[in-house]
Amino acid sequence: MKVIFHPRFYEVYTSDPAAAPGRMEPMVKALEKEYEFIEPEPASERDLGRVHGKSHIQFVKAEPHVYELGILAAGGSIQAAEMAFEGQPAFGLIRPPGHHASPHSCWGFCYFNNIAIAIKKLLSEEKIKSALILDFDLHYGDGTSNTFSGSISVSYFHPEGTRREGFLEEVRTSLQTERPYDIIAISAGFDRHEEDWGGLLKTEDYFTIGEWARKAALEHCQGRRFGVLEGGYNHSVLGRNVKSFLQGFSD
Ligand SMILES: [Zn+2]
Repeated sequence: MKVIFHPRFYEVYTSDPAAAPGRMEPMVKALEKEYEFIEPEPASERDLGRVHGKSHIQFVKAEPHVYELGILAAGGSIQAAEMAFEGQPAFGLIRPPGHHASPHSCWGFCYFNNIAIAIKKLLSEEKIKSALILDFDLHYGDGTSNTFSGSISVSYFHPEGTRREGFLEEVRTSLQTERPYDIIAISAGFDRHEEDWGGLLKTEDYFTIGEWARKAALEHCQGRRFGVLEGGYNHSVLGRNVKSFLQGFSD
């Protein structure tokens, strides 16, 4: 399992909770001893254009600092997806997050839809024909859902259970979909943790989710899997939560 990270993700590019100072450091600290870190290249405008309209790209460009980090985060997601396709599971420890970024608009601390950009790239290069996106963030990834609405090749699942057991059961069944998929992509938001906004999941639940995703990938798509960071705002628990997930998700 490789972690895709760039030191520029420490930079505070705006004033929302995803961009808060000190958010990335505890995650890096929790992972850097166990996993090899790899620096991504920024995504190209062509990469962005597979998901986003020209005017949306121009809109984000108007804030150069946000744009620079946005294309770096999208590039990190692409890198994780490409490594996963080649048989090396990977996690994009990136920000800004992406799942609230739709083709022509964005909100909720997101600018470009990192996971959608990565999946569209693999599809357009005909490396994959289909994908399963599991989003366990507290919030519904409307941007990802909008990007792939009507798609027969990409399934988007966002479990919504308000009780812990029910939520986990939804995660488990979503991975057992009858629809075939060539890769599993995880929008990993940790804001549903019991000490974060959602107040629901325990740290070990992220291990369980990671393990189920790993097993499903081995069973359905030759182990091809990657994840990218979405939400998660309690800096004091983010490190152990992301670590727990990766321990289940890696071989
Ligand atoms: Zn969220």
